[in-house]
Amino acid sequence: MDQAEVQGLVLALLREVGEDPAREGLEQTPARVAQSLRFLTSGYDEDPARLLRGALFSSDVDEMVVLKNVEFYSLCEHHLLPFYGQCHIAYIPDGQIVGLSKLGRVVDAFSRRLQVQERLTAEIAEAVREAVRPKGVGVVMEAHHLCMMMRGVEKQTSRAVTSNMLGRFRQDARTRGEFLELIRQDRA
Ligand code: ZN
Repeated sequence: MDQAEVQGLVLALLREVGEDPAREGLEQTPARVAQSLRFLTSGYDEDPARLLRGALFSSDVDEMVVLKNVEFYSLCEHHLLPFYGQCHIAYIPDGQIVGLSKLGRVVDAFSRRLQVQERLTAEIAEAVREAVRPKGVGVVMEAHHLCMMMRGVEKQTSRAVTSNMLGRFRQDARTRGEFLELIRQDRA
């Protein structure tokens, strides 16, 4: 990403919305926006599958592993406004397990891109399936979308929920039910 180019675009944008980019409060804004945008899209530079493959351990655990309430922040690709919430990931190992912190990093790697929640959910599930080769993967994401909350529709309390179930989570209603029950507990 060419930072100078982005700064120029932000400067033009400030003028277009009727602002004076030279006034004190806005002087540093193009540079700040460029920098923050670089961070918010840094997921493009990450290789989530490689992240996971670097943290695999042999294990004979065959019970469901669940990581709940992983906070995430992303940008909707339609409005470039944030959507944010929590991600829950579960898998059933098949000979290997993966470091839990790496699952969190995979969520960040896919969140820090321009996204729609449905694709984000599917990409996380697919990355775990590909790298860990488990008996099944389930991902549920719940998010507030600022493009809905701040603009015309103003549905401030609505929450979008997406899920992606692979392998045993898709085939076996009991496995899926167990996962959904585990993430339902302690939820408001
Ligand atoms: Zn949007």
